[in-house]
Amino acid sequence: MSGIKRPGLAKDPGSESTPGMDPFADTLQRLREAFVSGRTRPAEFRAAQLKGLSRFLRENKQLLQEALAQDLHKAAFQSDVSELIICQNEVDLALRNLHTWMKDEPVAKNLITQLDSVFIRREPFGLVLILSPWNYPLNLSLVPLVGALAAGERTPPPSCPLPVLKPSEISKSTEKVLAEVLPRYLDQSCFAVVLGGPEETGQLLEHEFDYIFFTGTPHVGKTIMAAAAKHLTPVTLELGGKNPCYVDDDCNPQTVANRLAFFRYYNTGQTCTAPDYVLCSPEMQARLVPALQSAITRFYGDDPQSSPNLGRIISQKHFQRLRGLLSCGRVVIGGQSDESDLYIAPTVLVDVKETDPVMQEEIFGPILPIMNVRSLDQAIDFINRREKPLALYAFSNRSQVMNQMLDRTSSGNFVGNEGFTYMTLTSLPFGGVGKSGMGRHHGKFSFDTFSHHRACLLSYSGLEMLKNIRYPPYSDCRQKLFTWAVGSHRCTLL
Ligand code: NAD
Repeated sequence: MSGIKRPGLAKDPGSESTPGMDPFADTLQRLREAFVSGRTRPAEFRAAQLKGLSRFLRENKQLLQEALAQDLHKAAFQSDVSELIICQNEVDLALRNLHTWMKDEPVAKNLITQLDSVFIRREPFGLVLILSPWNYPLNLSLVPLVGALAAGERTPPPSCPLPVLKPSEISKSTEKVLAEVLPRYLDQSCFAVVLGGPEETGQLLEHEFDYIFFTGTPHVGKTIMAAAAKHLTPVTLELGGKNPCYVDDDCNPQTVANRLAFFRYYNTGQTCTAPDYVLCSPEMQARLVPALQSAITRFYGDDPQSSPNLGRIISQKHFQRLRGLLSCGRVVIGGQSDESDLYIAPTVLVDVKETDPVMQEEIFGPILPIMNVRSLDQAIDFINRREKPLALYAFSNRSQVMNQMLDRTSSGNFVGNEGFTYMTLTSLPFGGVGKSGMGRHHGKFSFDTFSHHRACLLSYSGLEMLKNIRYPPYSDCRQKLFTWAVGSHRCTLL
């Protein structure tokens, strides 16, 4: 594996470039040649890479926890639960299932293909680019990487996609570990870490990739998609947006408040799937606000700034943006901020208007606005008038309310009476819909994302008599017979 460094940092020996020259060209060329050369790789090659990734996670646990603490003031609990363990689970699942996933998949046949071999082969996309954000900088780099290292069919050559990983330049400490330590655990010839911000990524995107997997803002997602379109490169876009949370009158306010506060303020609200705003009646709001205060005090104490369990805002830019949002509506909990510490207190806003800035953009910080609605219908109407969210939450004791919310709305993910626990499940696809993204990953879904599903039919060179039925000159009798034979009701699985 090779790492291309930013100007000013040590350069990868294989990517030496003179000023003004494209710093990525050599490395990408080298990887592409490795892919198309069809250099034989044993099926075990991918397993070896995944085991390397597993060792990287285990042997550098403390280093990674420290890097995440430096970047986001992340508590070790959160680093473990939402970064390290999730990556480890993905690696373990891929290792356990690699041979099954790689197998050709037989599919249903009709009568005219009964004697043929018909199957789906998962071919690896060649050179794949993974662009990740800063909020879960390890998880969102390595979970897609597991899929990329695992994907493809059983038989070489070539065996797996060759991933190029570009971590976020904003979470600097984690970026450094990914660039300097991870390479020691993977095969040098099949993978590269490249570093840089928007400018370097723009240069990188001038190159042709066979697949681009992007996680980040919808705004940058459009840039990525436009760059990919120049080469007709397929993309997965894992984006963000505003995730509504409906709280019905029929539920226990303290239970709801505990769960809401936990998931809203987790990672200091810098989570793409966090509940972004609450929709509830004025009566429920009156019960919810003291319950939220109680949950916040229980989790972070009377002075949340001194709590080891609350993180910090990633940068001055985001701090200033969030501080601006504190003037929307009326602060009923929190509202304090400290620029020198990039601290914003867990905050609840009420009397918020739909037109307020806090309701115009993804908050991505520890601020929870509450908007009032008079009924479930009004809440559903409010949600449906906006972009389809990445996640939609509803709290209610009534299954009828839950079903209505599920049936009459659309979102990447839907959760009743919980937060984003579903992220821990490799059995569920993770991805947005509409403006919150396209494509999906996690578990087998990642493997499929990085594989082209090639439709294959292998027929016999003999048995021409059986094929005669389709050749001209056509007749009514042949038409009826053929139509009957291709009829979908004749489909079988062999
Ligand atoms: P971002 O879009 O600013 O950056 C993401 C990546 O794109 C980074 O690697 C960055 O270097 C690169 N980039 C930034 N600007 C670029 C440009 N102009 N041209 C080319 N590349 C550019 O996102 P972020 O601020 O790092 O992350 C926060 C966003 O990501 C939020 O909107 C959040 O909801 C979203 N997110 C989504 C998911 C998901 O799985 N759906 C997960 C985490 C975060």
